[in-house]
Amino acid sequence: MVNGRAAADRTPPRCFRRRTVTGLTPCCHRSCAGLIDFALPAPGLCSAKSSTGEGNMAFEPELTKREAAIAETARRFAAEEVAPHAARWEKDRVYPAETQRRAADAGLTGLLVPESEGGHGLSLTGACRVFEELAAACMPFAFGLIVHDNLMGNIARNGSEAQRRALLPDMLACRRIGTFLLTEPGMGSDATAVACRAVADDGGWRLEGEKAWISSAAHADVLSVYAQADPEQGWRGVMCFLVEAGRPGVSRVGPYDLAGGHALGAGGFRFDGVRLTEADVLLPQERAFRAAMSGIDAARIFVGGMSVGMMRASLDRAVSYVKERQAFGRRIADFQGVQWMLADVETDLEASRLLTYRAAALVDAGRDATRAAAHAKKFATRAALHRIADCMQVMGANGLRLEEPAARHLASAKIGQYIDGATEIQNVVLARALLGS
Ligand SMILES: Cc1cc2nc3c(=O)[nH]c(=O)nc-3n(C[C@H](O)[C@H](O)[C@H](O)COP(=O)(O)OP(=O)(O)OC[C@H]3O[C@@H](n4cnc5c(N)ncnc54)[C@H](O)[C@@H]3O)c2cc1C
Repeated sequence: MVNGRAAADRTPPRCFRRRTVTGLTPCCHRSCAGLIDFALPAPGLCSAKSSTGEGNMAFEPELTKREAAIAETARRFAAEEVAPHAARWEKDRVYPAETQRRAADAGLTGLLVPESEGGHGLSLTGACRVFEELAAACMPFAFGLIVHDNLMGNIARNGSEAQRRALLPDMLACRRIGTFLLTEPGMGSDATAVACRAVADDGGWRLEGEKAWISSAAHADVLSVYAQADPEQGWRGVMCFLVEAGRPGVSRVGPYDLAGGHALGAGGFRFDGVRLTEADVLLPQERAFRAAMSGIDAARIFVGGMSVGMMRASLDRAVSYVKERQAFGRRIADFQGVQWMLADVETDLEASRLLTYRAAALVDAGRDATRAAAHAKKFATRAALHRIADCMQVMGANGLRLEEPAARHLASAKIGQYIDGATEIQNVVLARALLGS
């Protein structure tokens, strides 16, 4: 077994042959193709279609055959169903509910849901690879599906039989969209300071308060709401409830006008005396907050994967652009300043990829990945913001156009620096571990 999965079910690495535990031998796409025991087009990273070249030696994480096939489906789906519409979604502020349903039809949901509950039960590495592909076309679309998938995984693990039966089939088909409600207007990084109240009332609870900065708020139907049931207990008093957005007392706020990322439909919810019963409890006191925090490493790794996808797409486009565009009688690609800028983009892309998939492999191996996930998220989101801007720079003013991937990815890269713990919070985690404080 490798990382808890059967070694026989693995594809040979596409662009590296493993030589020793610490060393990797690169081989070109053409020569490694002969090693592959089934016919899959290269899933994006070393695609012969990639403008970053035939000799691109991008690291490819090891996937099972099934995972590689799902990643390939994601690559095709992203190219055919997401990328052609992403600029319009951004411009017209469209929440792409219909495309989410098509993603479900294509088998791109339930990645983290066990097979026994109708999902794919993928490893974290496999799921991250899928989200990388979707984010390369449109990060807000990918992130909406990540939040939805995470909630399905939570319901599959912790929900009652009645909750699983009532929600999972519709959610797997994206007929109902789920989201996670922790952040509030007055609280973000310090998640222990939940102020939304679940007030004991008539054998149940009354939900009062407001949640802010919620993904898919424009459209979501299934809300996992974290609310304080016993303020004296601090984080231990927090409970998690499953609430339908159509219930009396629930109202939507927004969606917000932002610098970008509008396909995510981010906004808020207000709860005015929403009646809750035992049947609505997903996680009780003590367990709710722990469960929210236990998924955070995976969430950070997915943000790393999305940053890799966005950088990759921006670099691909910039490389093809500078080969065509002329200035001073030469191709832009012939100027050394441009060449070096793009070489630096590729170095940061590759480092982000290695940090991200190393952290994912640790999770899949059942090892502590908290520091690895924090490093991956911090590095990849910083790199994405900086390097996507570089890709725009070599394209001159045309890089600003909304139809160009880099222009949309720039705002999404900034979003990556907030979600699932801001950059500074990764440093809090890392410094605490480093200094033992
Ligand atoms: C597009 C989008 C989608 C989102 N989706 C969701 C969602 O679906 N569900 C959900 O619950 N939340 C969601 N969030 C919220 C996200 O998790 C928060 O934005 C994040 O936790 C940071 O909180 P904050 O924005 O309130 O920043 P604050 O907590 O107000 O922090 C402000 C600044 O201070 C820094 N800071 C805070 N504490 C420290 C410290 N100890 N040391 C050093 N610096 C510090 C922060 O890093 C940040 O730079 C989303 C956010 C965005 C932008």
